[in-house]
Amino acid sequence: MRVVVLAGGVGGARFLLGVRAVLKDQATHQNSTPDNLIQVIVNTGDDLTVHGLRVCPDLDTVMYTLGDGIDTERGWGRRAETWQAKEELTAYGAEPSWFGLGDRDIATHLIRTRMLDAGYPLSEVTAALCKRWQLCATGTRVQLLPMSDQRVETHVVCQIDGVRRVVHFQEWWIAHHAQPPVEEFVFVGLDQASAGPGILDAIADADAVLLAPSNPVVSIGPILAVPGLRQALRETSAKVVGLSPIVDGAVVRGMADKCLPAIGVPVSAEGVARHYGARKADGILDGWLVHETDAADVAGVEVGQIPLLMRSPEATAAMASAALDFCRC
Ligand code: GDP
Ligand code: CA
Repeated sequence: MRVVVLAGGVGGARFLLGVRAVLKDQATHQNSTPDNLIQVIVNTGDDLTVHGLRVCPDLDTVMYTLGDGIDTERGWGRRAETWQAKEELTAYGAEPSWFGLGDRDIATHLIRTRMLDAGYPLSEVTAALCKRWQLCATGTRVQLLPMSDQRVETHVVCQIDGVRRVVHFQEWWIAHHAQPPVEEFVFVGLDQASAGPGILDAIADADAVLLAPSNPVVSIGPILAVPGLRQALRETSAKVVGLSPIVDGAVVRGMADKCLPAIGVPVSAEGVARHYGARKADGILDGWLVHETDAADVAGVEVGQIPLLMRSPEATAAMASAALDFCRC
C-alpha cells in the first residue's frame, strides 16, 4: 500500500508513528512479501538559519520521532540532549538567543548546512540524514519529502509593542509566544517554489492520502500553497482523508488557536474541515475524522467520529487505522 501523509512537526510525527505501526502490523500478518510505502510531505515553512546553520524543525521532528531519537516529553529535539553550545553562545551575547540549539541537534544542522552549501538540494540532504535513522519497519519503507527544495519561509505580519513588524514565524512563536496579534501569514519564496522531487507523482500514485492532525495554518497551510500540490490532491484517484487537530473544541498543544482566527477560520473541527473544503466542491477532502465529542457537517465530506487523542501508541495506531479504512471505502 502506498500512503502519502502531509505533516508538520510534533502532531504530524506522532501520527506517523501510528501509520507506520498499522502498515507494519499488516505486513507482519501477510503471507506474500509486502511492499508498503509511506511518503511524508513535510512542511519546510518553519525552516530558518540560526548561527549560520540551516535548521528544519518539522523535518527533524519527524526524522527523530520515527528514528526513535526524539525527546518524547518535549516532543521535539534529541533525547538526552545537552545545551553547552547554547550556553557558550549566550555568554557571547549571540543572537538569536531565543532559539535553542542542543549539542546533539547541532550535528544534524552542521551536516545539513555543509551539504546544502556544497549544492545538494534539501530533498537529497534529507534522504542522506534519514539513512542514519532507519525510518523503515517490516515491509514498510518511509520517505521524508520536504515540500519544496526551494526556500519557503513562513513570516508573520503582526503588531509588536504597537509597531507593525514582519518577523519569521519561529520568532513570533518562540520569542513572542504567539502573542502579537497577527495581520497576515506570508509564505516568503512561495512564488519561486515548486513541489519537491517525486511529490506530485507520489500523490498521483497513492492508494491513500492523509492529512495529519497538524496545524492547518502554518504546517499544512504552506504545503497546500506549494504550486501544483493542491491540484495534485484534487486529481488523485486516492481518497484524501484528514484528521482534526482540534479536539473537544480546542487545540491539543501548540497555538493553532492563535493561527486559525488570524485567517478567519473558527477554532473547531468543522471550521478546519470547511477551511480545507470538500473535493466535490473546490477543496481537497473526501473524508474528515473528528474526536468523539466533536461534530462537523460539511457538504460532500464524509465525517467519522472516533477518539482522536494520541495518548498511547495503541490510540494513535487506532486513529491511523480508522483513517486508512476511510480511504478504502
Ligand atoms: P508542530 O509543527 O510541531 O507545531 O506540529 P504539527 O503542526 O504537526 O502539530 C500541531 C497540532 O497537532 C496542534 O494543532 C495540535 O492541536 C495537534 N495535536 C497535538 N496532539 C494531538 C492529539 O493527540 N490529537 C489530535 N487530534 N491533534 C493533536
Ligand atoms: Ca512546525
